[in-house]
Amino acid sequence: MKKIIAIDGPAGAGKSTIAKSLAARLGYIYIDTGAMYRAVAWLALQKGVAVDDEAGLTALAAGAEIDMRVVDGENIILLDGRDISREIRSPEVSAAASPVSAAAGVRSYLVDQQRRLAARGNVVLDGRDIGTVVLPDADCKIFLTASLEERAERRWREFAAKGLDIDIEQVRRDIAERDYRDSHRANSPLCQADDAVLLDSTGMSIDEVLQKTLELAEA
Ligand code: C5P
Repeated sequence: MKKIIAIDGPAGAGKSTIAKSLAARLGYIYIDTGAMYRAVAWLALQKGVAVDDEAGLTALAAGAEIDMRVVDGENIILLDGRDISREIRSPEVSAAASPVSAAAGVRSYLVDQQRRLAARGNVVLDGRDIGTVVLPDADCKIFLTASLEERAERRWREFAAKGLDIDIEQVRRDIAERDYRDSHRANSPLCQADDAVLLDSTGMSIDEVLQKTLELAEA
């Protein structure tokens, strides 16, 4: 049977780290849906399209060719053939991705693409609305979270590892603001699907979380 595994949760919960490792362990394809919203946000910043200009953002999403692949264990995001994997992780793009993703037109284009990619089967997708809206019939749904403090610290360590010196308080505020916005938007808000398993990774190592998700995926 082809399997579809959906991992949703708030910012910095470790969804992409876990989803990527889980996909590698199962021999599945990993689809990072957040990277797709980030790619449109990056394009909007480049083209000077305001994050509340719904028509402008929808036109960008409609015309953007987003491609994802894994090279040497790294997720590569290509936008119209250009590798923007690094650029889309900046604090500016993170902040813009949340209002951009609230645009119904943007979501409709990207959700279509996500469903098409998932239709191949044997996939792990991570995001905010995979188990609730994109693929409500997914075979396995996990809602991965952790305390705000721990998520901020993980994100801060990622920035530090890339040589970015950002105040941890600022990281905490940015994450809290993004979670609030993602959970309160009208269209596909971040929330746990009724049939998703809640996995609170506060105090757990990556290996422990991976082990738990493997058990859930193989159950
Ligand atoms: O997961 P990541 O932090 O990369 O996502 C960036 C932003 O994209 C989120 O803050 C959220 O606003 C948006 N997003 C979304 N739906 C998804 C995935 C991400 O709205 N399925």
